[in-house]
Amino acid sequence: MEQDEGQRVDVKGMSRQELAAFLGQLGAPPYRAVQVMHWLYRRRCDDFQSMTDLPLELRQSLAQRATAEFPRVLECQRSQRTGTVKLLLGLTDGEAVECVLLPYQYGWSICVSSQVGCALGCTFCASGLGGWKRNLTTGELMGQVLAAARYLDEAGRGERIGHVVVMGMGEPLFNLESVLAFLQLAHDEEGLGIGYRHMTISTAGVVPGIYRLAAEGLPITLAVSLHAANDSLRSQLMPINRRFPLDQLLRACRFYIEKTGSRITFEYLLLHGVNDRPEDAEALATLVRGLKCHINLIPANPVPETGLRRSSPAEVRRFQNILAGRGCSVTVRRQLGAEIDAACGQLRRRFLAGGGEGEK
Ligand code: SAH
Repeated sequence: MEQDEGQRVDVKGMSRQELAAFLGQLGAPPYRAVQVMHWLYRRRCDDFQSMTDLPLELRQSLAQRATAEFPRVLECQRSQRTGTVKLLLGLTDGEAVECVLLPYQYGWSICVSSQVGCALGCTFCASGLGGWKRNLTTGELMGQVLAAARYLDEAGRGERIGHVVVMGMGEPLFNLESVLAFLQLAHDEEGLGIGYRHMTISTAGVVPGIYRLAAEGLPITLAVSLHAANDSLRSQLMPINRRFPLDQLLRACRFYIEKTGSRITFEYLLLHGVNDRPEDAEALATLVRGLKCHINLIPANPVPETGLRRSSPAEVRRFQNILAGRGCSVTVRRQLGAEIDAACGQLRRRFLAGGGEGEK
């Protein structure tokens, strides 16, 4: 179980069974676990003293031995145009992570971070610029959803969060155990009650992690950040490709599709003059031929430090048309966050540098 510096156990990352066992240690019967979960996940209450249907004695021992505290909102950016909300959340050790709320037709989709910083050093990404700090705990993964849900309640926008996407800062497959425990808790009907088909894990291509995830047999959507269809360019853009080159990666993807029955989403960032030529589109179509997959084209969010530029709308359209002409299922990602530092890691980076604050 996860403990904070004061040796208090974090209950928000606990599965129903773990919570029941912990409450058992405090002398409470198992059904109390569901009551505590309702306070956390339905009423977004993180203060044990306010959990009024628990006996006073239990509330007191919980307050002494445990914490449920949601991370604090350090900064918030809202896009007036698209409704996207980006939150910077403070963790107990002084670190900060980002999560993004994206509106969709029937509620919200939340994009959470899996690590503080990132070890991968992809050349186009802001998260890797400051290196890797640590993995997030299950409680910190769930804390992002709970803090965001509370934020929405307070803003009068408390529609349901119906999708969870692990596509924020960090590489989720390098923190798979906590990410899986988090998604299982998100799936629990006493937790967030979200179906696995409404969950996505995005990876830069950590091949052993893909096999481990496939072994769970859950219909979680796997998104693979491809960004190039040949090894030399991909290794330049994403150093992890040197460890797990494309043939290994595609073999793992094929296995994942067979094992889970779900299709894979390939993310392809479009960088002007780097990977957006017609021959790049042809190579991509050839690479994924015969795979049950969808291609998501992402006009890159500019990160000033990288010097890379996004493709023009005409270049994006040309790329998309070539893929569609080759029979690929392909869409262009909606630009929901560009004007609010929504490129991975940008808000945290600006915050750490002591940059601007407040709402946009
Ligand atoms: N490590 C995982 C998840 C985090 S990155 C992965 O690589 O998939 C989430 C997504 O944001 C990835 O597809 C990543 O390539 C993309 N991304 C990173 N920098 C970006 C930028 N500047 N503009 C648009 N997308 C970016």
